[in-house]
Amino acid sequence: MERLPTKRALALRSISVLDEMCVLCGDYVETSDHIFVSCHHAQTAWLYIASWCNLPPIIAFGINDLLTLHEVSSGSWKKKKAIHAIVLVTIWSIWKMRNDAVFRQSVPNTMKMLDGIKSLAFLWVKNRLKELSLTWEDWSRFRFG
Ligand SMILES: [Zn+2]
Repeated sequence: MERLPTKRALALRSISVLDEMCVLCGDYVETSDHIFVSCHHAQTAWLYIASWCNLPPIIAFGINDLLTLHEVSSGSWKKKKAIHAIVLVTIWSIWKMRNDAVFRQSVPNTMKMLDGIKSLAFLWVKNRLKELSLTWEDWSRFRFG
């Protein structure tokens, strides 16, 4: 809902920002739809998630399409919950990568972020969904429930 303090959102609230460009790609104004959906770093992440979770290519026009992705996915209830968890972890990870680039001048590393998403989402699903028998090997191939 454009409540995240992206550069564009700050500029609209008359808070001065040096430039409004996306810190990840440097090519477009930083809005939340850009960072999480259309930035090529985000596109790479969603391609990877789709291939890992055996989903059809993820076509999103805004964040809402990502937040409702699990509802339109096929499969068991557990699988849908896992997909939703992965989407949330991915959005959080992209925002963290963006903040590290803005505040720590770190170079965005999408592949490193994707590794992190896989392990963080594993811990989340194992604990939150009580999937205690879930193994890392099955998770790595998105084979469960
Ligand atoms: Zn960008």
